[in-house]
Amino acid sequence: MDKKENGVSSLTKELNGMASSGNEKRDLFVEYNTDRRTGCYLSRFQVTCLILGNLFILCTAVALVAFVKKERIIYGSVSDAVCSCQTPRSHTNVTVDYLYVKNQTSLTVLTENLAETENSTLEESNNVEDSNNEESEETTQLPEEEADPENAPWRKIRLSRDLMPLLYEINLEVDLENLTYRGHVNMTLICTNNTKFVIFHISHLFLDKDSVKVSENGTKNVFKILKQFRYIINQFWVMELDSELSAGTVYKVSVGYRGFLHEDLRGIYLSKYVTPEGEIRRLAATQLQSTDARKTFPCMDEPDMKAAFQLTLTHQEEYEAISNTPRKSERLANGWKTVEFHATPVMSTYLLAIVISDFTHREMVLDNGYNIRVWSQPDKIKQTEYAIDMVMKCYNFFTEYFNITDVLTKSDHVAVPDFSGGAMENWGLVLYRETALLYEHGVSSSENKLMVTLIVAHEVAHTWFGNMVTMRWWDDLWLNEGFASLLMYFAMDAIYPDWNVFTLSVVAKEVFPVMVKDALTTSHPVSTPIATPNDIAESFDSISYSKGMAILRMLMGFVGWEDFQKGLRTYVSKFKYQNAAMDQLWDTFTEAVNYKYDIKSTMNTWTRQMGYPIITMHAQGDSYYLTQSRFLLDDGKTTNSNGGMYDYKWVVPFTYITEGDQEVQLQWMNKSSATIPRTTDSWILANYEYVGYYRVNYEVDMWAQLAGILNRNHTEFPEANRAGLIGDSFNLARAKILDYDVALNMTTYLKYERGYAPWVAFLDSVEYIRSSISKSGAYVLMQKYLRDLVAPVFDSIEMTMEGNLPERYLRQTILKLACNVGYKRAVEYAKGMFYHWKNDGITLPSDFASMIYTVGVSEGGMEEWDYVWNRSLSTNVAVEREMLMQALGQSQKPWLLWRYANWIFDPSKIRRQDVRLVISYLSKRPLGRMISLHLLMTKWDRLNEQFGFDNFLLRETISEVTQFVNSEFEYKQLRTLFKDHPPKVAKKETQNSLALIRANINWMDENYDVITDWLRDHVVGML
Ligand SMILES: [Zn+2]
Repeated sequence: MDKKENGVSSLTKELNGMASSGNEKRDLFVEYNTDRRTGCYLSRFQVTCLILGNLFILCTAVALVAFVKKERIIYGSVSDAVCSCQTPRSHTNVTVDYLYVKNQTSLTVLTENLAETENSTLEESNNVEDSNNEESEETTQLPEEEADPENAPWRKIRLSRDLMPLLYEINLEVDLENLTYRGHVNMTLICTNNTKFVIFHISHLFLDKDSVKVSENGTKNVFKILKQFRYIINQFWVMELDSELSAGTVYKVSVGYRGFLHEDLRGIYLSKYVTPEGEIRRLAATQLQSTDARKTFPCMDEPDMKAAFQLTLTHQEEYEAISNTPRKSERLANGWKTVEFHATPVMSTYLLAIVISDFTHREMVLDNGYNIRVWSQPDKIKQTEYAIDMVMKCYNFFTEYFNITDVLTKSDHVAVPDFSGGAMENWGLVLYRETALLYEHGVSSSENKLMVTLIVAHEVAHTWFGNMVTMRWWDDLWLNEGFASLLMYFAMDAIYPDWNVFTLSVVAKEVFPVMVKDALTTSHPVSTPIATPNDIAESFDSISYSKGMAILRMLMGFVGWEDFQKGLRTYVSKFKYQNAAMDQLWDTFTEAVNYKYDIKSTMNTWTRQMGYPIITMHAQGDSYYLTQSRFLLDDGKTTNSNGGMYDYKWVVPFTYITEGDQEVQLQWMNKSSATIPRTTDSWILANYEYVGYYRVNYEVDMWAQLAGILNRNHTEFPEANRAGLIGDSFNLARAKILDYDVALNMTTYLKYERGYAPWVAFLDSVEYIRSSISKSGAYVLMQKYLRDLVAPVFDSIEMTMEGNLPERYLRQTILKLACNVGYKRAVEYAKGMFYHWKNDGITLPSDFASMIYTVGVSEGGMEEWDYVWNRSLSTNVAVEREMLMQALGQSQKPWLLWRYANWIFDPSKIRRQDVRLVISYLSKRPLGRMISLHLLMTKWDRLNEQFGFDNFLLRETISEVTQFVNSEFEYKQLRTLFKDHPPKVAKKETQNSLALIRANINWMDENYDVITDWLRDHVVGML
């Protein structure tokens, strides 16, 4: 923005101020008049002065409007440019005429409304409940005399397919100094049905109305636009032409626009980092999924409206720009650099990406010429070594798996300092948050290594599944995410065969947790109807990712590895550059298995209804009788049965092995019961390797038999099943189907267990009990029981960094548990290491560093806390910073926790992207939970004021903080709070939270005594 525009902007501001209300008008006039009165001539002719003054204002206004139109000044002031989008603006200086203005006298009112609307659009996209609020309705400016007809094309949320995009030619100038961008886009569209309307998406962009042109491609035939206006509710720009566009003809729509770079992590946005010398550097990055391409350039922003993109970027010359494709040309002029990129393949709008930064990169060229680069801040480039190796390995793996090479000749992978998600698979330019890409040998833990490996594999897998073939609409988002989530394990298993990833990670870290979530009535089917941008945002949850993955793994289980690959290969090559719906995928698989199974009707029972079954086994003579019913954890089991398209019955591939026959048997349960043979005096173990997405309940004596085997020789069962027996039994107990003592009996063997998955299943299962009883007497018994279990395991392992990932994971888990339950040897070890680190500057073994910091902080006081905080500020390794920040939330000093909790309101202390993390760190232990609950209750208004725009953050905060609350007193306080001060977003979460607390209270009433009695019987040496 140059000075001339600034000047005009302030003038128009004045004009708006003058016209905005009668009072202001008068005040301004008086001020003006007073100035003039300093001249004696005017003081003698007050009446003349009044007339002249009025005339002057009128002339200024007219001249200004004309000037503004001529110069096409259609965006806000500098002050708008530098404040964050998320901070509600108290006023607006946005000028003019890009809304349809029927009556010029309403100009200012419209202008005022616009900024509010821009804000409300932001909020709107965060919360479906607010998306149709009155404010939005009011600020949607439509031609007055034409009542907005019900069937008007702009009223439909989805664009019509009358016009389909073929090519976007985008010229974008990004000014990292003034934090603005301006662009021009030419959309080449093909008309498929005659229409007079051209509609495309825009959001947070300021269009130059006069620049909008519709012409026939290759001709000078420009169409007259009868009217054009923004329809805020659907984030549309609508144009009605005076004549129809004809089917089969190609047209061009040209639009000029401007926008502001904010630190809002959406669309094209501003990110920053600090150099080791303390200098703040800026960069621009993008996050367009799901619906923020429209915030970067006007476009038809739906996944199946695929097109090619030809991008030209202009930016200050000290930066370098990268995008999806390699660069074609570069030129320098007057301190600005203009880079032209090659056209992209045909792809969805949400996959376009841009980074403009001063980052450095590491490069690798493969034998086939494919170019891989990994980018980071210059002083972190050392941490990209592992990532580039993983990208290469994953790329090779998937190229072979799909038997198709990437259409692009390069891929860039960038660690962005501020990033909303974990990573984003933009085709050819994948963006990550730093912890998801950077790995520092000797500092990052094995957990970080696993995460980087998984996320890189996941994003690279999207090249084929997601980018080449894309879901047709967001209701099948799970297809993209479920497949990428499963495929990443294929790659990992190939790269690290000794990691046993399907048990270590799939079962323990994904399937078990999502099965808990999916057993609540608040769950949803993986394939969910999606209408608004909000619905889309909400569908990016663990149901889409982990359940999607789990049911696809089950599919692979019964069709077999080879047919699964065959189906996928066919699917990708058949729908390359296109979109496909779920049914087309199932049809491809049905063909791949030679019609042996009807994949569609089987999988529909898993995708179109939420939840999953519990299979109950009854012994009847020489048979087991199997029945299925929906498994539910929460109360209100009968209240919410919507969504059960198949009456909550599933087509279940039930598998099992027996003592006499270790060959895996498969028995189908076609939305019904089934019978399998039984040999008496022999155990039976169902759901082999926990491939099926269901739980199993045995008869009580069968459970006892299985517990006996575990105690005698636990390795007789696969590790995934040992974990599964614990996970299932505890969940059944929580659902009141099984007594807690049966579940607890499955854990006594753990003192022999050296596998990671069963320990994790146990800790996850027992966490609920531990947290629920943390304010009662039985807590001491529980801690002692856990100490007794973990002590022999801790004593048998060495605290080294040797071995493969599962071994390292086990050590990490055991140290953590041992410290948490106060096993003296473990605590002494961690404490000793902490002071060595603090006083002698030793490097900590990275796998144990997190626990060592935690013990240091929780055993220490202010000095230790401050030391760890300062280290968190000085480290340049993001994962180390997260570990340190997590440790800070584990202090046992309430005043330190309270100070820490309050820092979430201070962005100079805690970055916005880390607020959610800090709240989750605080919620990990009883004292931190009490502090964060207190914060929620006493600072509720401030939380809403500061984070009220972020549905996700508020939702997570409410859920994290209240998840274990189980007293009647706190229930009533929260109920009053939520009722008297309802949040603008996340209202549903407040209801969920109250329902959960009620369930927690009931749980205590029903189970506390049984658990206490069992612990008394099993804990040695306690009263
Ligand atoms: Zn993904």
